Amino acid sequence: MHAAEPLDEETGSVTTPIYQSSTFGFTKAEEVMKAAKGEGSSFVYTRWDNPTVRRLEKKLAELEGAEDSAFFSSGMAAISTSVLSFVREGSHLLAVSDLYGETYRLIHDFLPRLGVETTMVETTDIVQMRRNLKKNTTVVYIESPTNPTLKLVDIAKAARLAHGVGALLLIDSTFASPINQKPLSLGADVVLHSATKYLNGHADVIAGAAAARRDLVEKIKFVRRTLGGTLDPHAAWLTLRGIKTMAVRVRAQNRNTQALAEYLSRHKKVAKVNYPGLRTHPQHALARRQMDGYGGVLSFEIRGSMKDAMKFTESLKVAILAASLGGVETLVAQPAILTHTQLSAEERGKIGISETLVRVSVGIEDAEDLIEDFGQALART
Ligand SMILES: *Cc1c(COP(=O)(O)O)cnc(C)c1O
Repeated sequence: MHAAEPLDEETGSVTTPIYQSSTFGFTKAEEVMKAAKGEGSSFVYTRWDNPTVRRLEKKLAELEGAEDSAFFSSGMAAISTSVLSFVREGSHLLAVSDLYGETYRLIHDFLPRLGVETTMVETTDIVQMRRNLKKNTTVVYIESPTNPTLKLVDIAKAARLAHGVGALLLIDSTFASPINQKPLSLGADVVLHSATKYLNGHADVIAGAAAARRDLVEKIKFVRRTLGGTLDPHAAWLTLRGIKTMAVRVRAQNRNTQALAEYLSRHKKVAKVNYPGLRTHPQHALARRQMDGYGGVLSFEIRGSMKDAMKFTESLKVAILAASLGGVETLVAQPAILTHTQLSAEERGKIGISETLVRVSVGIEDAEDLIEDFGQALART
């Protein structure tokens, strides 16, 4: 909560001011020259750097145990800018196959157009990962836990494999948040977040971030200047405010999700529940090793047809039928008709997305209210 937010020097303001300024003035021409070269601490232009955004970057760095971080106008800006910072024509990128939709587009469709070779391997199969590394692999890209089936990747093992060929390990850690998982301490090189989700936590901002060693963050920021996916100072301020309650929110979400997952796994209309906190999760032991909490997202399959699942999501009274996750309100989404519509039923089946799968981003409501709501909606299917 306090990290990187000292009292404002001039006024003593407890909250960080919003420096809603696109540019910064100078009185000495020589200072302009220095600042443009990146010497000294002066701000020049907000696409390069802004004092409110800078506070936020320092705050996330402390939370992730990183030397520095960079913020972006969206999670996808953070992901695309960071990936593009470490690949070039002729290099190879290895990724897991369970990827966030637009990340899949970036790696599967976009990078090959730039002459970057890409391979995707089965998400939980570390042996396949080792077999597919190449001499020219510069980036290994993983997500853990994955969307929407909550599979895990062994972060420490993936880091050792990547480093063995001189590649960097980039991880999208959005689902875990810095409260539940610290990938850098397990050997990852760059941690990526859609700050839209748990960092901000209130469904009112689109933002993204990358945290890493200082030299890596500098490379990423250099590319950010060119691609231009900078975060607006006001959105940075909202995210700073959101982060102050992240620990309380995420711990409440961990508890609620565990309770809901246990309830659903006993329900006769539920065929399967995916949640790393359940003993029945195939990677529960790994979850215990690499996570401090199991997170606020679960998914489950309803017994019945796609129509039954649609009926369920419509019948909820507390939870809201909406895209996105990580906010204080419980949201549900049916991946087959919302987030994964670009894939064929067969492609969805391959990564475990059935027609009746429902993803739940659990909020901070009373667990009893959620259980009652899910119970009455299941009764209507
Ligand atoms: C939402 C999300 C993204 C994309 O973030 P935006 O802020 O929407 O651009 C990337 N990865 C994961 C895991 C996400 O949940």
